[in-house]
Amino acid sequence: MPELPEVDTVVSGLKHNFLDKKIIDLKVYWPNIIKNYQDFKIKGEVITDVKRHGKYIFLILSNNKTIVIHLRMTGQLLKDVALDKHCHLEFFFQNLEILRLVYRDIRKFGGFELIATDEIGRYLRDKKIASDALSIQFNEFYRHLTSKNIIVKQVLLDQKVVAGLGNIYVDEILNRSFLSPSRIANSLTKEEAETIFIMMKEVLIASIKMRGTTFSDYVDLDNKKGRFQGFLRAYNQEGKKCFNCGNTIKKMKLVGRGTYYCDNCQV
Ligand SMILES: [Zn+2]
Repeated sequence: MPELPEVDTVVSGLKHNFLDKKIIDLKVYWPNIIKNYQDFKIKGEVITDVKRHGKYIFLILSNNKTIVIHLRMTGQLLKDVALDKHCHLEFFFQNLEILRLVYRDIRKFGGFELIATDEIGRYLRDKKIASDALSIQFNEFYRHLTSKNIIVKQVLLDQKVVAGLGNIYVDEILNRSFLSPSRIANSLTKEEAETIFIMMKEVLIASIKMRGTTFSDYVDLDNKKGRFQGFLRAYNQEGKKCFNCGNTIKKMKLVGRGTYYCDNCQV
């Protein structure tokens, strides 16, 4: 599933290719991908900005409306690709030549929605989405993190605690913080929470520089894979040596998710 660095890479690609471009047509091959399909009126509008919060993408339009996109498990936004049976939506943009943006999604969990631009804040509040992992301040992070009597892995995955993390980056952050994924969150000291906070920002920024992590479906707008999988220290590294201590990385199921950790240095 695309997490913050992958979604951020997609947002950069959208800005680079489609900012100030006019949507001249839209073809919908699977209307269920759009919430309130009959109200999805975007033809003739210009993309004036592209924003991200957590894993949400916001395409800001010239008519004070905003297209909200969530890629969920396998959603992809691709520039000028040939259509296949997994392509559900096709945008056409005015340029010297026609530009196309295609939404492809094998599992079909992703979705589009049109809201008023001044309702973005309320949209996120209604869903109880917390501050974005790159902009959240320590005090808010610490308060959310240590308010729960459940394991730290589950807390960090909760978008109501901090927005943007998923299974890959939570495992990476905890390995780099020398903390066990099954530690109870409200048992963390302030110093341990600070370490998690610092490692969270560090890992996310490093991955954005590498244009995200690709294991299966994630690609950028140009259909190119990310490169951060070459820098992972825990996620999907079962049987390999721990970067911190040389012990073997193990895998277990935790809150229903495959979890990679070192049982020597993560306490
Ligand atoms: Zn270790």
